[in-house]
Amino acid sequence: MVVQNSKRTHAAAIFLACLTCCGGSKAVTAETAAGTGAVSVPAKEYVVIGEDRYDVPAPWAGNRLAVEVLVYEDFRPVPLQYTKDNTSIYVLKAIYDPLIELLDAAARQGVQLEISSGYRSAGYQKKIFLRMFAKGRSFEDAIRFVAPPGYSEHMLGTAVDFSPSNWRFAKTRDYQWLKDHAAAFGFLESYPQYGVPGFPWEAWHWRYDATEQTVDDQLTSPDP
Ligand SMILES: [Zn+2]
Repeated sequence: MVVQNSKRTHAAAIFLACLTCCGGSKAVTAETAAGTGAVSVPAKEYVVIGEDRYDVPAPWAGNRLAVEVLVYEDFRPVPLQYTKDNTSIYVLKAIYDPLIELLDAAARQGVQLEISSGYRSAGYQKKIFLRMFAKGRSFEDAIRFVAPPGYSEHMLGTAVDFSPSNWRFAKTRDYQWLKDHAAAFGFLESYPQYGVPGFPWEAWHWRYDATEQTVDDQLTSPDP
């Protein structure tokens, strides 16, 4: 997986990629060019869910993620004490150590973070839609809450959702702790408040990006 090396590239990646996270997200533009010098024409993007094909609406259109093929050995399970309801949740091996360091550091300061979601394949993302369809919801309705298959940062294995993964999270002490310290471990909010226009604020969704790591004096300096 390619790691973005500059803040500017990274910022572009956030815009192009988001809703899935970290450390090597790489967006695929929907442009096609007929040859050198030709004007590229945006191709219409669509996803296939079940038997049907759906046009990808804004803000997703143009932000499909490219991900290399991942296999079981690429992942590690998050220790159950750090997952909501002791659920089995996997993340990319590359983010395991910084994630555990973050979770341990929070716990030492009395903040018990719980992860409710980690790696999700594009196939799993389709199942989420199918479940919503089964409940009578339309694609247009579901897409307001769920990233289309192939567009979610969760399929990169570098994004996690903290519990509760809804608007209430922004009001928690857990969120404040992450705001204050997560960058020291290389984690950042993918969809911050006042972030990229069109993408709703997801306070609970964080992704790992080593290039964003900062020093946290509060956590690294010895106690006075
Ligand atoms: Zn998420």
